Amino acid sequence: MRPNVDALFCLSCGVEPAEPLRRTASLRCHDCREAGAPISFELALRARDICRAQATHAFEGAVSDRRPAA
Ligand SMILES: [Zn+2]
Repeated sequence: MRPNVDALFCLSCGVEPAEPLRRTASLRCHDCREAGAPISFELALRARDICRAQATHAFEGAVSDRRPAA
């Protein structure tokens, strides 16, 4: 299953990162990396919540797709 790349955002400023950074799942955008901007605690919590929701959704989907053993 492909990750939902639309949920990616810079953990420092919150903007959507450029495509190369999205592909490598970079935590910060180019500007913030260059500036050495710190990661925002608030945005990190938001990212964690999104990751958890996606993982839960993927897990429930995988479980419901399974057939019980005969
Ligand atoms: Zn940024």
